[in-house]
Amino acid sequence: MSKIARRKFIQLSAATAAGCLMQTSREAMAADMPKLAEDDPMASAMRYTHDASTVDVASRTNPAAEQHCSNCALIQGEDGEEWRPCQIFPGKVVNANGWCSVWAPKA
Ligand code: SF4
Repeated sequence: MSKIARRKFIQLSAATAAGCLMQTSREAMAADMPKLAEDDPMASAMRYTHDASTVDVASRTNPAAEQHCSNCALIQGEDGEEWRPCQIFPGKVVNANGWCSVWAPKA
């Protein structure tokens, strides 16, 4: 292996290892975050609920038919996780089946 190839191999290995560590740390952070309570003052102000099916469709300002946290543009984390971070409620996780009045469609 030439010096250049070895250097490139080491750089790629380091970048891959760093990426794995960041992913693991992101997953651990979401798992450690408290769940957003429906009676949290900020959650109440945004009409957050853990179950989007309980929301009166006529009361929503956005007309899109399918609205729940997992298809909202502001959700973070990984698809398939039950509780995920949300940009609107930093430091807490929301239910993937939840909803709030800030819901916005993914682009
Ligand atoms: Fe759910 Fe989107 Fe509201 Fe966050 S902003 S709680 S992901 S509907």
